[in-house]
Amino acid sequence: MKLALIGFGQAGGKIVDTFVDYDRRTGSDIVRAAVAVNTAKADLMGLENIPQDQRVLIGQSRVKGHGVGADNELGAEIAEEDIDEVQGAVDSIPVHEVDAFLVVSGLGGGSGSGGAPVLAKHLKRIYTEPVYGLGVLPGSDEGGIYTLNAARSFQTFVREVDNLMVFDNDAWRKTGESVSGGYDEINEEIVKRFGILFGAGEVEAGQEVAESVVDSSEIINTLSGGGVSTVGYASEEVEEKSSGGLLSRLTGDDGGDEGLDTAHTTNRITSLVRKAALGRLTLPCEIEGAERALLVMAGPPQHLNRKGIERGRKWLEEQTGSMEVRGGDYPVSGSGFVAAVILLSGVTNVPRIKELQQVAIEAQDNIDEIRQESDDNLDNLVSDDEDELESLF
Ligand code: GDP
Repeated sequence: MKLALIGFGQAGGKIVDTFVDYDRRTGSDIVRAAVAVNTAKADLMGLENIPQDQRVLIGQSRVKGHGVGADNELGAEIAEEDIDEVQGAVDSIPVHEVDAFLVVSGLGGGSGSGGAPVLAKHLKRIYTEPVYGLGVLPGSDEGGIYTLNAARSFQTFVREVDNLMVFDNDAWRKTGESVSGGYDEINEEIVKRFGILFGAGEVEAGQEVAESVVDSSEIINTLSGGGVSTVGYASEEVEEKSSGGLLSRLTGDDGGDEGLDTAHTTNRITSLVRKAALGRLTLPCEIEGAERALLVMAGPPQHLNRKGIERGRKWLEEQTGSMEVRGGDYPVSGSGFVAAVILLSGVTNVPRIKELQQVAIEAQDNIDEIRQESDDNLDNLVSDDEDELESLF
């Protein structure tokens, strides 16, 4: 499906920038427009693929292009004040050609954490297209203020979007790596998952012959109903034959060598579905109780089959307890791998969020205490013990 991507803040901008690169490299044709919004000029200048005229610097009169320094209340205020400037960039998007907006942001910082929910609310008021969020949670080693920002932003963002897809940096942290090097790799992982998911709805008739191609309406229906989503992924390299599997499926020839192949293909698909659902999700959670799910099997057409996808779908129904599990193909030739991407929408059993909220509350209490203490200390320093001196005015 076609998306208008808007990255808010540094993380948001970089992820959208990586998305544009992925789209060009793979020819996925998902990105209809890409905009970056920030209060920090340097962050916008560091982007590589988003067109210059689609980079919007807001809050110049307040922070002079220097960013909001992890103050997400200021980030939200500036976004509200300067929403017309953001709208100016959105106005250049042919919205009738997009299926949805996707607002991308790190939730731990200031600009995106505060601004992304404001922008989502604004877009929802103006457009009829769905407005989705992709929110990135900070690593648990980033400190209390980032956790507090993320917990408050998460709560607000979920309310303002049609669905909030979440990626947890904490689950993807690697030790012994430079932070920025680590982020580049993480951003590639994010974009691969969401690229396959949204790319699945973009296969045009005639591009590839597929048995049951995922349609963009299936993605939209899986995300509708709101709440929080997570995505699973697993892949396996395969050898691509120049012909064979597809033809035999079309002619209904299931015997001989092809029969063996079919069994193997089916087994590979079902095992990839299990790995994707039970492995590391973008937001780790219990999949039981997910309200809706969508299984996308991507890969060369001869390595996809209906039986495998049907089995995978059934297994997902059992595991989630959901009656709304959709599934289909995303035929991609020449990729050299078969991948299962599973969107689990409306997840509610997420210990990580509860833990984030707990740490955020503690951080909030500490911050209040420290502020009170430093007010008292300053008071003690400035005033004389017996209160004998008088201020000038
Ligand atoms: P903002 O510019 O004020 O919105 O703040 P940032 O986007 O710089 O940071 C917000 C949070 O996003 C940080 O706490 C990190 O957890 C995360 N972050 C920053 N840069 C990246 C990135 O490139 N990729 C990912 N996945 N996370 C990032």
